[in-house]
Amino acid sequence: MTVNVLFAANETRWAQYEPHLRSALDATGLEYHLATDMAPEDVDYIVYAPNSSVQDFTPYTRLKAVLNLWAGVEDAVNNPTLKVPYARMVDDEGLTQGMVEWVTGHTLRHHLGMDAHIVNPDHAWIPDAPPVASDRPVGILGLGQLGSACGQALHRLGFPVSGWARSQKKIDGITCQSGSDGLRQVLTQSQILILLLPSTPETENTLNAETLALLPKGAFIINPGRGPLIDDAALVDALDSGQVAHATLDVFRTEPLPQDHPFWAHPKVTVTPHIASETRAPSAARVIVENIRRGESGEPFLYLVDRDAGY
Ligand code: NAP
Repeated sequence: MTVNVLFAANETRWAQYEPHLRSALDATGLEYHLATDMAPEDVDYIVYAPNSSVQDFTPYTRLKAVLNLWAGVEDAVNNPTLKVPYARMVDDEGLTQGMVEWVTGHTLRHHLGMDAHIVNPDHAWIPDAPPVASDRPVGILGLGQLGSACGQALHRLGFPVSGWARSQKKIDGITCQSGSDGLRQVLTQSQILILLLPSTPETENTLNAETLALLPKGAFIINPGRGPLIDDAALVDALDSGQVAHATLDVFRTEPLPQDHPFWAHPKVTVTPHIASETRAPSAARVIVENIRRGESGEPFLYLVDRDAGY
């Protein structure tokens, strides 16, 4: 029987994804129909981006699974009409590798104090050598697919890495913590703090006035996770007081970041436009199609979202 796969993401993505989805589907030997438009009652799988025009899943009466192209699921996880298995994107070769590179680059920028020499209009001669990585404890909030990969990469560079997750974990190269005491331990040690938590009601304002005050004075914050993880006003106060030396922010409560937002003008904030990492079509198509293959052969889907936890 033909497997009907609806591609329901931004139109510009179709040209990128179509050839890779087709070649991965061809390799399964399944008979399939892949299109951006089909009668809802015929659709077996939806390849999905939460900003898609498909927001009501009710008419998709034979739907077997919704397969997300993004790692973040906060915009769809509470959709009451989405009742079938919902898988998020885990794309090691593309998304994870891109995040490891972005996080490593921005960590090294702050660790090495590169800004002082890259922009030096007064030609100041500042012969302060940076510490080596082993003297720069780094913390990662969120030890999932992305946080654990970034933590392990930083460990390989020599940084002492501690991390925090909802459940207690054991990851080579990372001192893992959980619970509120665990968060306190990670924060008090982290000269560079990286946020890779999902956006859920529990993670909102994880960094607030109280938790920012736990960081060593002059810490750096790098947030490629989600905007709501940080209380913006508390961060601005912490930057102004010197408690936080610099924040590199890739994600915001409102995107694009409004022109009048204080982050744009703040000299201690680097704004990047949600480009830390992106799902890459060749590898992501293989991940999507592996889940279709699993669905068709009765095997459990990979990377299912936990609706109760919200990620
Ligand atoms: P993931 O595998 O689901 O990992 C999430 C991690 O956060 C897990 O370790 C989880 O703990 C932890 N966590 C969740 N809720 C928590 C809580 N209340 N307290 C403590 N820890 C909590 O997600 P991922 O694939 O690594 O992605 C992480 C996030 O990165 C995404 O949700 C998305 O927001 C963001 N992202 C951003 C970009 C970008 O370009 N800026 C790109 C991709 C993704 P457990 O391990 O115990 O479950």
